[in-house]
Amino acid sequence: VVKIYETENEKHVRSDDYNYAFDKNTGFFARWGRTRDDDPSVAPSIEIADIELTTACSGPAGKVCGFCYKSNTPKGDNMTLEAFKQLFDKLPRTLTQIAYGADANCTSNPDLFAIMEYTRSRGVIPNITVANITDEVAAKLAGVCGAVAVSRYSDKNWCYDSVQRLTKAGLDQVNIHQMVSAETFDQAMETIEDAVVDPRLTGLKAIVFLSLKQKGRGERYKRITEEQFKALVDRAFELGVGIGFDSCGCPKFLNAVKDRPNYDALFECSESCESSLFSGFWDVHGRYFPCSFTPGLSGAYGDWTEGLEITDDFQASIWNHPKTVQFREALLKNLDSNGVRACPLYEI
Ligand code: SF4
Repeated sequence: VVKIYETENEKHVRSDDYNYAFDKNTGFFARWGRTRDDDPSVAPSIEIADIELTTACSGPAGKVCGFCYKSNTPKGDNMTLEAFKQLFDKLPRTLTQIAYGADANCTSNPDLFAIMEYTRSRGVIPNITVANITDEVAAKLAGVCGAVAVSRYSDKNWCYDSVQRLTKAGLDQVNIHQMVSAETFDQAMETIEDAVVDPRLTGLKAIVFLSLKQKGRGERYKRITEEQFKALVDRAFELGVGIGFDSCGCPKFLNAVKDRPNYDALFECSESCESSLFSGFWDVHGRYFPCSFTPGLSGAYGDWTEGLEITDDFQASIWNHPKTVQFREALLKNLDSNGVRACPLYEI
C-alpha cells in the first residue's frame, strides 16, 4: 500500500519498500526503501514527467540549432491547455515535478503559462528549459517555475543575459544547460571560466552538461572524448563552479572522477538513467515514451516507433504496460563498469 501525504510545501510517499520526501520549494528529493540504506531501483509509479509542449522553434535568435535532436523548425505543433489537462488529470499523485520542453524563446505555445499555472495549482512543480528570453518572459517564469535552465548556444550573451533576467526576477534555481560534443568543447570550457568572472552569472546555480545524442540534426556532431569530459569536470572543480549532468552522462561523469578521494560521495549524489524507472516522457501529441530520445527507435528495449496512449488506468496503460516493462528490464541489465545504468539507446 502506497500512502501519499501532501502539504503546500512538501510531498511524501510511504510504503514498505519505497518511500520519498520532496520539498516543493527547494526541489530537495530523497528516496529510500525498506531501510534508509536501501535504494529502490524502480518506483511503483512515476516521480518526474518530461512533457513536450511544442515542436515549433525558431532557435534562440531566429536561426534553428544545427544539433537539435528533434530537428525542430518554426513550423510545429503545440499542446493545448485542454489537451494538457486531459493528460495531467490521468497522472498519479506520486508525480513531483514536470520538466517542460518548449522553444528557445518560450513564445511558441500560447497556452504555456496557463499550463504551468495549472500544474502548480495541483501541487506539482513546473520546470522548463529556454535559451533566449525577454525580461517579461523571465518574470513570468520566475513566478511559476521551481527551476529554469538556460541553454548555452553559440552566442553566450543570449544565455548569460537570460540567466541574469531570471535571477534578477527572484528565481533561485537557475542553471545553464551546456550540450557537450567535440564541437562545443571550447565553448563549454569558456562557460566554466565565465561562471567565475561574468557578473551576469552571479546567481547561477550550476552548469549542467548535456550529452550529445546523435539523433535528428545531432547526427552530424561528434561525441566528446572521455579525456575532454574529464578536463571540463576538473576545471569546474578547480574553480569551484557548481556542475551537474543529465542522467545519460552519469557513466562519463563517474569515469571522470574515479581517481578523486571523494569518489564515494560523488557516486552517492549521481543518478544514472531513470527512464521508465522513475520518469517518463510525453510528446506534444500526448504519447508516452521512456525518454525524449526514444521516439522512432526500436531495439532490445522494445519498439518505440509508436508511443503509448494513456487511459484512466495509468498503471496498466503506461507504467506496467508490457512495452514499458521491456524497456525497464533492458535498462536495468545495461550496467557499465562503474555499476551504474548506461544508455540502452545511444553511445553517449
Ligand atoms: S534512455 Fe538514454 S537517452 Fe534516454 S534518458 Fe536514458 S540515458 Fe538518456
